[in-house]
Amino acid sequence: MSEECSHNCESCGKDCSERTKESLLEKPHDGSHIQKVIGVVSGKGGVGKSLVTSLLAVMTQRAGYQAAILDADITGPSIPKSFGLHTHAEGGEDGLYPVPSKTGIRVMSLNLLMENETDPVVWRGPIIAGAVKQFWTDVIWGDVDYMFIDMPPGTGDVPLTVFQSIPVDGVIIVASPQELVGMIVEKAVNMARMMNIPVLGLVENMSYVVCSGCGKEIHVFGESHLHEIAQKHQIALTAQLPIDPRLAAACDTGLIELFDGSWLDGMLADILNNNTEKENKKMKIAAACKGKQLFGHFGHCENFMIFDAESGRITAETSIPNPGHKPGFLPNFLADQGVNVIIAGGMGGGAVEIFNERNIEVIVGAEGDAKSVAEAYLRGELKSTGAVCHDHDYESECGGHHNT
Ligand code: ADP
Repeated sequence: MSEECSHNCESCGKDCSERTKESLLEKPHDGSHIQKVIGVVSGKGGVGKSLVTSLLAVMTQRAGYQAAILDADITGPSIPKSFGLHTHAEGGEDGLYPVPSKTGIRVMSLNLLMENETDPVVWRGPIIAGAVKQFWTDVIWGDVDYMFIDMPPGTGDVPLTVFQSIPVDGVIIVASPQELVGMIVEKAVNMARMMNIPVLGLVENMSYVVCSGCGKEIHVFGESHLHEIAQKHQIALTAQLPIDPRLAAACDTGLIELFDGSWLDGMLADILNNNTEKENKKMKIAAACKGKQLFGHFGHCENFMIFDAESGRITAETSIPNPGHKPGFLPNFLADQGVNVIIAGGMGGGAVEIFNERNIEVIVGAEGDAKSVAEAYLRGELKSTGAVCHDHDYESECGGHHNT
């Protein structure tokens, strides 16, 4: 968006992210009711994007949801093969029907439409993007809880057009260990953020191999940079997949639905439980401080650092002095400021109760630099140690009710 943006897209020819988000989104087919759309992206081909897409769909279906896969990797469609699907997708007057896998996952891929699945697809970018759009607009998906899109690789024109035309709720980035040290992941993160799409998770594929003799993990590419990169880009969820010949064999033989492995369990559970909300939401985090350092007792602190956060990132910080610690006063005072989370060293049980009543998350037991701690919270790394002050004297000082 340029500085002279008039916010009137009708009279502007610029192809900025704001314009496209508003104007290019396509409507799904009337016969499709899709709750969540998750794009699986990678910086380049061959890093395991299709494998991760398949595994996530298999696990989602196993968890009792209706999963679907839209194979948008038009020039390298490998989803049907992993699921052993060789039938042709059928069409009616109204549109095309996805092909169900053995466990009922609904799949649409160019390979399910080609006369000969080994024919190369030598289409140019706009035609490829057009085909993906049609998988969204002309396929009768029915009721789907989670649709996973195996995105075209890279960060070029085709994935961009797909993002602009399909309302993707979030993306998962798949990268090889080498890519994590380069700029490719950063490009994928930037592309998603440019489109205002939350980055839900980062998967390091081919992270290590397990020695079949001794069971030891061998990190072929050296020490992993996964957590460092996730932290740098404020990505809440991470997972690592080993190089496992059984995975390659399952894909080759069309038996990916039989895989067993728990590598993606944590990430998927958080996605299904919507624990990635922090990523998307605007929120206010308050920290009970002395200056910029967290203070041990909530009610007794000198000031509150207030951090505004959006898409998992801190966008503004202010400090407000503690207006005084009358019992029961401070929690309501902070609630009235629109605070969603309070972080403190310790807190009285009464204050915790009021915060809970006002739907404010309480994290106690934290110490150190308030901003770093708030950032750790946004990454989903901060857990409350439950340090509640039980001492009566402190209870009032910590901002709780006076019971005596
Ligand atoms: P992409 O979609 O990124 O192009 P694929 O998911 O198709 O990549 O993976 C490329 C090939 O590598 C496939 O044959 C797949 O079975 C294999 N592969 C990917 N990840 C692994 C892994 N962790 N262990 C074993 N084989 C893998």
